[in-house]
Amino acid sequence: MDSSAGRRGEQLAALRLRAEEHGVIPEAKALAALLRRRDFSEFYRLADDFRRETKGDAILIRAILEFSNHCRRRCRYCGLNSENRALSRYRLSPAEMVETAAEAARAGYRTIVLQSGEDPWFTPEILADVVREIKKTGAAVTVSAGEKRREDYRILREAGADRYLMKHETADERIYRSLHPCGTLENRVRGLRDLKELGFEVGSGFMIGLPGQTEETIARDLLLLLELGCDMAGIGPFVPHPETALRDLPHGSVAMTSRAVALARILMPFCNLPATTALGVLDGEEKNAVFSRGANVIMRKVTPSRVKRLYQIYPSELRDTDIAAERRALEGEIRAMGRVPV
Ligand code: SAM
Repeated sequence: MDSSAGRRGEQLAALRLRAEEHGVIPEAKALAALLRRRDFSEFYRLADDFRRETKGDAILIRAILEFSNHCRRRCRYCGLNSENRALSRYRLSPAEMVETAAEAARAGYRTIVLQSGEDPWFTPEILADVVREIKKTGAAVTVSAGEKRREDYRILREAGADRYLMKHETADERIYRSLHPCGTLENRVRGLRDLKELGFEVGSGFMIGLPGQTEETIARDLLLLLELGCDMAGIGPFVPHPETALRDLPHGSVAMTSRAVALARILMPFCNLPATTALGVLDGEEKNAVFSRGANVIMRKVTPSRVKRLYQIYPSELRDTDIAAERRALEGEIRAMGRVPV
């Protein structure tokens, strides 16, 4: 073990002890009881302390390029599900993906997240070529294109992809089955383990407010993130989409999302935790609160304006894309919070 890994191990052990002193232990019933507390301020403070000690004041800005809204799956909450016939489908060309990513890199983005529905047109080989080209800009590449075979992940890794983002969505088998007619939790989790073994930095995550979810389910979601050894975890509220089976359900709670992010920070002090875009859609006045409750990452869409509104996972108001201007504005907002844009 080199000395920096050793120091990090020692810091982690010390943080775990402090977490335990506050009753934050990796056990489902204990975590569920914390999530039910009336006053959560003690844990928000602890999460903010842990974030400062492990991540400093940086807020990492990621560019997200939504390159295809074709999807073969039928996830019952998602606006991209293949049964949504009201949606016009688009697919960017590999050349436009590379050009857009290069523009984002020139604007200062150090990570490009390539996200899509599960679109078989983008074979691992096509995607690998795109990854290789984008890597020439010096930016890190995250792929978020759903479930693939282990061999396909390997092709992407060998092309230079640094990270893979694939939320487990819910750790509850029964809820998972009711929402995903096209896949199993077992396969999703197997994919995440494969990605880790192949040397990717792995991002998982889950939604708050899915039908049937309880505090205990959320506790088990957090424990699954811990068990998987996630490097990143996106925790965001469910937002109903009018063209899905869940259209009439209420959106997930912003407060419960904040609580889950804070506990994720305390349980996984070194993990990167985004303020999810879904949270940004809902949280209004509380917009930036999550950054003082454990979060240290934000994503900005760099998807070209002509297709941007077609990538509606959930309804949101979208402006035309101006990659450089939006990056500058966000850097200003981050500085105004007393934090450092990276
Ligand atoms: N196809 C890839 C995958 O499955 O990982 C990436 C794209 S998928 C649309 C990205 C994420 O959107 C999902 O992991 C899910 O958590 C989130 N999502 C989809 N519908 C949502 C909704 N109605 N509310 C909140 N989040 C949603």
